[in-house]
Amino acid sequence: MPSKTLPIFPVTAAVNEQNHLVIGGMDVVDLAAQFGTPLYVFDDATLRRQCAAFTKEFSSRYPGARALYASKALSMRPLLRLIAEEGLGLDVVSGGELAIAKAAGFPMERIYFHGNNKSSAELRQAVEWRIGRIVVDNFHELALLNEIAGATGRRQEILLRISPGVDPHTHHHTTTGILDSKFGFAIASGDAERAVQQALHMPHLDLLGIHIHLGSPIYETDPYREGINVAFKFAAAMRDTYGLRLKEFSPGGGFPIQYTVDKPTPPLADYAETIAGAIKDCCATWEFEPPAVFVEPGRAIVGRAGVALYTAGARKEIPQVRTYVSVDGGMGDNIRPAIYGSRYEALVANHVKDTRRERITIAGKYCESGDVLIKDIELPPVAAGDLIAIPASGAYCIAMSSNYNASPKPAVVLVKDGKATLWARRETADDLLRREAV
Ligand SMILES: *Cc1c(COP(=O)(O)O)cnc(C)c1O
Repeated sequence: MPSKTLPIFPVTAAVNEQNHLVIGGMDVVDLAAQFGTPLYVFDDATLRRQCAAFTKEFSSRYPGARALYASKALSMRPLLRLIAEEGLGLDVVSGGELAIAKAAGFPMERIYFHGNNKSSAELRQAVEWRIGRIVVDNFHELALLNEIAGATGRRQEILLRISPGVDPHTHHHTTTGILDSKFGFAIASGDAERAVQQALHMPHLDLLGIHIHLGSPIYETDPYREGINVAFKFAAAMRDTYGLRLKEFSPGGGFPIQYTVDKPTPPLADYAETIAGAIKDCCATWEFEPPAVFVEPGRAIVGRAGVALYTAGARKEIPQVRTYVSVDGGMGDNIRPAIYGSRYEALVANHVKDTRRERITIAGKYCESGDVLIKDIELPPVAAGDLIAIPASGAYCIAMSSNYNASPKPAVVLVKDGKATLWARRETADDLLRREAV
């Protein structure tokens, strides 16, 4: 039902007189004609609205609280410029993301560097570029970074990533804050305590506080409260034993977006209320001066803003079993259904309002049986040439895209007030050959 699916699309989504989907004042049929498909369309208004919402909901409840955009959800220069304009900070998890941020002119002091195996080259680059914070994940990194900072003649401000042992009830592939995780210093094993002790003695590192990230997407607010309680209790013990000063604290990211009609998300205000409330309560309980707080939304900034457009092609009807409609993209541009079992909605974008229904499975064009974008969805009859629009495609689709089957990666456009700006052109066969050395 378009009326139920439309709210999952960007805030500017509408249907015009031709019965076509419109985003940012642009008819998507025109966009497909101009730029080809598969095409990723981003809506300027939704991106900016999400940035502003995070700043408002958190800073109104906890003065000075700031959002850092987790750029692994989608890392592109034009996007990072927009994020900087909106006043957010940035998370990067690799030298590549750091280089893109640098190329975008993103203010270095607003960047936080995460990751469980940062290389010495990556750490050196970050220190030399005077990155704001490095979130240290493990003992190897702690020693390496201290050495690099010393050799560079710089004191680096750091946070420690602590694993609080809290299960946020999401997919096990995206659960990060439990004991059995590759990320962070676990409190339960004593590693977190040893890390604080060591970090406080590192001559070239300045330990400013603690970071936790439970996983994503987290559809409940309670895990945040639980994680924050555990982190502050730990911080209080570290203060009392080793003199740790908690100047900064982050409860991480993982804020959900709505992918399907039947799985709504709690409003952002609920997350802000829970997180700000829990931090304030903890400060009162353990007598802390309120630390600077930052949250790290990735998906929640870009997810809803992005729509994937595909052209339908081959159709295979298997009587009493299933009807497959294949599109011109698939797991190369969106691997999430294949690796997480993620569910999506869709519209037939060139005849949105159409009450006829058939049950189809939208398959990709890649040579994998698991290359299915949406299993069993009720849509108006789809014929070859029809345009399929999948909402909530802004996060982790382009970011995880591959050249499997030597498929070129799709083009990306931004729409705003009836204008489209090409953010990245579609790859060509030349791009696929570019890196080959002989
Ligand atoms: C991935 C990640 C995020 C963002 O997760 P989302 O679900 O996109 O909000 C934030 N912080 C850290 C440390 C991460 O690894």
